[in-house]
Amino acid sequence: MPVLVMKFGGTSVATLDRIRRAAKRVGVEVAKGYDVIVIVSAMSGETNKLVGYVDETSPLYDAREYDAVVSSGENVTAGLMALTLQEMDVPARSWQGWQVPLMTNSAHASARIEEIPTDNINAKFGEGMKVAVVAGFQGISPEGRITTLGRGGSDTTAVAFAAAFDAERCDIYTDVDGVYTTDPRVCEKARKLDRISFEEMLELASLGAKVLQTRSVELAMRYKVKLRVLSSFEEQSDEAGTLVCDEEEIMESNVVAGVAYSRDEAKMTLVSVADRPGIAAAIFGPLAEAGVNVDMIVQNISEDGRTDMTFSCPTTEVARAEKAMNDLKENGELNFAEIITDADVAKVSVVGIGMRSAAGVAAKMFKVLSDDGVNIQVITTSEIKISVLVARKYMELAVQALHDAFELDKA
Ligand code: ASP
Ligand code: MG
Repeated sequence: MPVLVMKFGGTSVATLDRIRRAAKRVGVEVAKGYDVIVIVSAMSGETNKLVGYVDETSPLYDAREYDAVVSSGENVTAGLMALTLQEMDVPARSWQGWQVPLMTNSAHASARIEEIPTDNINAKFGEGMKVAVVAGFQGISPEGRITTLGRGGSDTTAVAFAAAFDAERCDIYTDVDGVYTTDPRVCEKARKLDRISFEEMLELASLGAKVLQTRSVELAMRYKVKLRVLSSFEEQSDEAGTLVCDEEEIMESNVVAGVAYSRDEAKMTLVSVADRPGIAAAIFGPLAEAGVNVDMIVQNISEDGRTDMTFSCPTTEVARAEKAMNDLKENGELNFAEIITDADVAKVSVVGIGMRSAAGVAAKMFKVLSDDGVNIQVITTSEIKISVLVARKYMELAVQALHDAFELDKA
């Protein structure tokens, strides 16, 4: 039997009614002749609640116990989904991560999947089970403890199962009807895309589009899993939603596919550090060790052997970054005059594989922003993306202006 993976996010299983609605969708696919693997998230809000319990009990928690607690939301929905399907006379069974067993490494709270053996579930399919309902987001470490895959990790569970079982497709059911050219809450002209390439989706996801966990897109790209994002709240046709696929499967694409933003960025500048070999390693090594996710980096021109080093990171990591730098200074390992932090910036990016062959995208982006009086503070580029840091108050304006300028409202 061909296998289909269907993943239901938190809002799609938020109530018993919604679980019934999702189960009906599963029943439709079973009737078409698929063996279905359903991956469920916790009911919406549930994981946040569990994380809150852990934080309140133990601010510097043991990550193994964090995982024991926060993985539990998915167990509830897996069992309820299996029961609902059984009530509809669809032979279904729930599976927790350890029962599969979905093997991960020991990096609690952000574990990586190492292996998904297919024998247990396939044996049950062989005995007439039509649906395996698997608790998303969780696995088991080599030490035999429950792990979780990081927030939003059920997407990654779903794609990994699709790869392991060689599924025909991996359908991600969520509360939006697909992937948009930009966030419709910021730009009302945002348009749903019928198709988007893995590369573009990967950039959009890592730049802040929240529809898929970044790692799930990485996995889908590596194993060429056909990934579809669609709404569980609308009547579905086979063409619904957005297909994330190989660029060869997209006939004609715009130079720019989408505009992404991330609101909570901070810009930090170390003023007057020595301009010598090893200085970047001396700064960014310790930042990485302190768990600071550095994004953009600019080293300014130097004068008299001293230079300024500017970088960006999430606002939530500013305190950690400042502490790491001040510790280095106190220990005499790094000398600088001061740290200037601007926690009021946002990152706006344009993404598109068409940029590889089209010149002038950056120039156009900069002109559009300058026409609107938006000052660009830092720029980075890759082959298919250009990102700028701007004052946060201009973020929405910048997104809208770029969406207009690159005519993303037109197919
Ligand atoms: N329930 C987990 C979370 O909220 C995993 C997921 O839904 O993807 O992060
Ligand atoms: Mg999600």
